[in-house]
Order: sequence, then C-alpha cells, then structure tokens
Amino acid sequence: MCDDPRNTSVLIIYTGGTIGMIENAETGALENFNFEQLQKYVPELKQSNCDIDSIQFDPPIDSSDMEPEAWRKLVRIISDKYDKYDGFVILHGTDTMAFTASALSFMLEDLAKPVILTGSQLPIGVLRTDGKENLMTSIEIAASKNKDGMPTVPEVCIFFENHLMRGNRTTKLNAENFNAFRSFNYPVLAKAGIHIKYNNSVIRQVDSNRSLKAHYLLGTNIAVLKLFPGIHENVVAATLAIDGLQAVVLETYGSGNAPRRKWLLRLLHEACKRGIVIVNVTQCCAGTVEMERYGTGFHMLESGIICGYDSTTESAVTKLMFLLGHGYEPSEVCQLMGQSLAGEITIS
Ligand code: ASP
Repeated sequence: MCDDPRNTSVLIIYTGGTIGMIENAETGALENFNFEQLQKYVPELKQSNCDIDSIQFDPPIDSSDMEPEAWRKLVRIISDKYDKYDGFVILHGTDTMAFTASALSFMLEDLAKPVILTGSQLPIGVLRTDGKENLMTSIEIAASKNKDGMPTVPEVCIFFENHLMRGNRTTKLNAENFNAFRSFNYPVLAKAGIHIKYNNSVIRQVDSNRSLKAHYLLGTNIAVLKLFPGIHENVVAATLAIDGLQAVVLETYGSGNAPRRKWLLRLLHEACKRGIVIVNVTQCCAGTVEMERYGTGFHMLESGIICGYDSTTESAVTKLMFLLGHGYEPSEVCQLMGQSLAGEITIS
C-alpha cells in the first residue's frame, strides 16, 4: 500500500475516540479499548508494506476530554520520534479533532513530515465502520513521498471520508454522516478514490534549511463569545470582566458585523484598552471577515478589535493560546493574528 515501501515507517499515535471504542454489553455505551484490540479488527495493518509502530494514550480518551496537556504530550512524542519515522498518524475522537489539528499546526513549527489526524463515526469493530478506510488511507498518505524522496504532505492534516484537509482549516460539521469534516475556506489537499490525487499546488512548501521547533507553552485565559440578536449587556460585560482574561474570539455575523449598540461598542473598546485581544471571526461556515465593508463592522475596528479573516474558531482559539503562551504583548499578539503562521488564514 505505501508508494515506495522501502524504509518507510509510520508511527500511529492512538489517543482514543470512537474509532477504538466498543459497546459495553450492559450499558450499551461506547467505551475505549486498547490499540492491540483495535489491531484485531484491522488485520490489514499487518499486511502493510511500511513499518508501522504504535503508541497509545493510557488510558485512551474521548476527545471531549482533550486538553492542552494532551497536545503537549502529542508534540513531545512527535518531536522525540521525529527522526525515526517518515510520518505520523494520530487516531483521535472527532469531537475536538479540529482543535487538536489546529493546535499542533502552531506547536510544530517548521514541520517537514506528515502528521495526519483521523478517526471514525462508527467504531472499528462495527461492520459498516468508516474507521478502517480512514486509518489505512491515512497511513498511506503519511508514508507517501514525492519523486525526490520528500514527503508529499509535510503538514498537519485531517483525513476523513476520502478528503485530506489542512488541519487548521477544518471544522466538524456533521455528527451523523461519514463526511464529518469540511475545509470551507481552503481547497482539499488530496482526494482518495481508486488513486490518491494530491493537489500539490495547495500543499505547504517546506523550507528544508529549517528544522522542527516544538512549542509547549500555551496561554489559556481565553473566552469565545458568540453574538445573537437580543444578547444582554450583562452577558458581554460578565465575559469581558473574567479575571485574568487575555483574549476573546468574538463570533460575529456575516462578514464581521455586530449590533450597533452603544453599550456593546463601549464594552469592547474598554476591554481592548485594558489589553484584552479581541479577534473577530464570522459565525458563517465559509467566507471571510471584512470589517470595512459595513458600518457595523467598521465601528468595531475603531474600537480596537482585530480582524480574524477567514479563520475557523478552532484555529483562532488555538493560535491565541500559542501566541499568549509566548508571553507576547497584546500589540504583538494582534499583529501576529494578522499574519498566516501555518496557512490558517487567507489575507487578500
Ligand atoms: N465522542 C467521540 C470523541 O470525540 C466522538 C468520536 O470519536 O467521533 O472522542
């Protein structure tokens, strides 16, 4: 299955999630089982031409329990094993997979090897599972190399239901269907059919003079505030008054618009003056924030709120954590939020 299996090795990191769950006979609830049990259901793993090793979280976790500590653990494993493997496949629950993929894209600076996250909607032991296909194709992608011997996809990605997507562009959009993820604002990096067709022009280029820099520090004093018609002043005020708050991802309407209420603009402006970084992202799945487009967005720009462009909320949250972890001043965080660090935003 690997293009050129010679000396190709992939490390599977099993964190947990539906892919490796089994039904508890008594309660009917899904519970995690270990990687060895998972292998029993995927005998194809042994037939693979690549060398496959695995490592697992003990205990495996439902991704609802994912925390920055687990992201650090993943970064530690990848950086420790970086020279030994050609690529990495992370088995992860779908619920927070887009957050983990986004976080890793910032924490693994100058990554030059594939890190492919995948999982499934149905456990691997279930006959109609989507897990086998997702796992086997992810391994193939993680092992794939160009003619020059360089990895085909040297970035953090999510592979799900035949689509390879840039991790920090991806959102979970469906709790039922097999095609659970979408990358609304960036083209897919590859499509898997009979062949895996790579869209090379949109895959990240690597600077081979740079080596992997692993980052571990994350600042988590962040809130996400979603606007809705009728939102009360005290809801916004209470959020912005949170002790120690350093940044807010403000989910606005359309191309970055918010109600033109005086109290709202005053509260946001005062928070910006106190050094809280407020990033404007849209509640829409696709498209970008353009704060100069309507008066309602322009007023926010004047208040000191910064544009999140076409960022997903997952990417904005984890990028802020990453920047705050560096101890940057608010003005530096604002400036770096306006730059693409790992292909997470499109600045036209
Ligand atoms: N609750 C599960 C998780 O995210 C769902 C899944 O894996 O799809 O771990």
